[in-house]
Amino acid sequence: MGPVVIKLGSSIVCDDAGHPRSDVLAHVCDEAATLHADGRDVVIVTSGAIARGMGVLGLRMRPRAIDELQAASAVGQGQLYQVYDELLTVRGVATAQVLLTFFDISARTHYLNARQTLQRLLDWRVVPVINENDTTTTDEISFGDNDFLAAQVAILLGAEMLVLLTSTDGLFTADPRLDPSARLVPLVEDFEALGALDIRQTTSTLGSGGMRSKVVAAEMATAAGIPAVVANGRTSGVIAAAVAGERVGTRFPAREAAYSSFKLWLKYAKPAHGTITVDAGAARALRDGGTSLLPVGITAVGGGFDAGDAVDVVHGDEVVGKGISNYAEAELRRVLGLKSRQARDLLPRASEEAIHRDYFVLA
Ligand code: GLU
Repeated sequence: MGPVVIKLGSSIVCDDAGHPRSDVLAHVCDEAATLHADGRDVVIVTSGAIARGMGVLGLRMRPRAIDELQAASAVGQGQLYQVYDELLTVRGVATAQVLLTFFDISARTHYLNARQTLQRLLDWRVVPVINENDTTTTDEISFGDNDFLAAQVAILLGAEMLVLLTSTDGLFTADPRLDPSARLVPLVEDFEALGALDIRQTTSTLGSGGMRSKVVAAEMATAAGIPAVVANGRTSGVIAAAVAGERVGTRFPAREAAYSSFKLWLKYAKPAHGTITVDAGAARALRDGGTSLLPVGITAVGGGFDAGDAVDVVHGDEVVGKGISNYAEAELRRVLGLKSRQARDLLPRASEEAIHRDYFVLA
């Protein structure tokens, strides 16, 4: 069975003055240690480096400039990790600090290396304590508060469950701080239905995520067959309850895993570097027939992609899916709309597929 991935948002890791919330961290580490002692593998994904750095530096307001956020994170990260390390070590659990970037996950070889290292740590019964490497990347600082990172880690390791701990009891029908009639949504089986709710982007002055990024993270995990729970990190016992399947927070049950790990990576982790526009016939064939994309169905290319890059395949205003292009944009431009035999004469390699079906996922 894969690990339980526990993600802690900035607002439950640190208080408004940037001091670690020792009560919260102690109960989370207690629960993590109990799961670990029961034979489960545990991974912690934690935000709060910026918040802790703000505390150390005496900054009252979260900086706006990206370099200041990155520098504040560098100040806070060591102390943040130390708190987990101390709390888990006294509970008999060894930890490892792991700093990942989006690039580590979007480049396939880095992705595989990250997976191998994390798996090795789990085999050694070590609890990885993961944050984004904020010094070199800004994806989660800009938006996400590590929610996407946690979902990616869960997918990477085939997690048993993703538990997203935040400062509210879960997903509400409206912002509970603004609307007293807001109700907790205990179960989300249909992501489309959430469109009717007013899901805000920001929940605290400390982090950058909010409920929106949690819902997207849950959507990513559940599509990979991993159940997700959004719950209040301040409530002790919440992780054990989530793992035991008890009613706690908002539960997003696993959906049938429709994709291989490669396709999940392509769908959720690999950024698109360009666009291939296709005609109606090709869009239908990709959607209904599960076919490869041939030059004959392509009407335009754009964005400056290279061979091997991921590209969005679009028809009109709709994104049909994402795939790895066999050819660079300039190579495909020469063969737009051409039948395979003509296209083959003009393409530098034998394959006439612009995108092979094995390297394509529907949106
Ligand atoms: N990596 C960031 C941190 O640990 C994420 C939180 C944020 O988005 O502010 O502080």
